[in-house]
Amino acid sequence: MKLTFETLDLRTRHAFNIARQVDPPTRQTVWVRIEDDGIEGWGEAPATPFYGETAATVSAILPRLGDALVRAAGEDPFALERIEAAVAQSIGYNPAARVAISAALHDLVGKKLGIPVWKLWGLDPAAAPKSSFTIGIDTLEVMREKVREAAAYEILKIKVGTPRDREVLRMIRDEAPGKTLRVDANTAWTAKEAIRQIPMLEEFGVEFVEQPVAPDDLEGLQRVRRESSLPVIADESCKTAGDVAKLVGVVDGVNIKLAKCASLREAIRIVHAARAHHMSVMIGCMIESTLGIAAAAQVTPLVDYVDLDGAALLANDPFTGPGIEPDGAMRLGDAPGLGVSPA
Ligand code: MG
Repeated sequence: MKLTFETLDLRTRHAFNIARQVDPPTRQTVWVRIEDDGIEGWGEAPATPFYGETAATVSAILPRLGDALVRAAGEDPFALERIEAAVAQSIGYNPAARVAISAALHDLVGKKLGIPVWKLWGLDPAAAPKSSFTIGIDTLEVMREKVREAAAYEILKIKVGTPRDREVLRMIRDEAPGKTLRVDANTAWTAKEAIRQIPMLEEFGVEFVEQPVAPDDLEGLQRVRRESSLPVIADESCKTAGDVAKLVGVVDGVNIKLAKCASLREAIRIVHAARAHHMSVMIGCMIESTLGIAAAAQVTPLVDYVDLDGAALLANDPFTGPGIEPDGAMRLGDAPGLGVSPA
């Protein structure tokens, strides 16, 4: 078994800004390949500075993770639990680097068996809900243009947390009166501000609010949930399955991202931890190529809400494979492993 990797440039069609940051139009991602007996498994490392990683940090540690991988895999690449645990023990949190290896291993095993990963897990692609399409923060005119370009999507997710939220939501409701709207504040508010804003969100028929307050402000999250009518979903507050316990009674649901939980297997553990507490489950993404989206897509038959538009926001997707149709419907396909090939 051998691990190789290379850095790829991803360009978004529009600037993609959220409440806490203005993003550059080009970003780097890392394409990881694991070769075993002439078969290659692929994974993407969607490095996110908010969680402490860049393409450079991922590239710097991958050789070390590759050594741990080869030692742990030995003769049996199917020992996914043991291999992932060994890779995790060889490094700190580093979720993007680790998830690239997790995705590549699952791709490899699926290809060896000749079946897609969702089938390996016994899932039904028809159970996958439709994905939302995200409208990032920009001038009202650019946001209007983005909403018009997204005409085919039935569900829009709006980034909020600026003084113009009401104006933006009014514009979007005028443009898209029949669509399901969800909002994501990306930690922009205090609990008090969120409680003040939510009646306005309700006025525009918003379905739920994602991460209104800071990741560690669990008391604030709980207050927002108690004092407002909209369901609250934790994103930045929930990285791994271990975080679910502290969110019980605090939020209504959690947003899984492979770029936070570091493993496809951990994503499924989060689903079960949340379900044990009757919480709803969403799966989201970073700006990533179809390779990263295809890995998250395998989990979608298990969740209530999907937000996997990362590759749909790109001007230059290097890969083709599972992802979202123009109306947001999930396309999982029958190709083995993650089902991804070069574009
Ligand atoms: Mg979010």
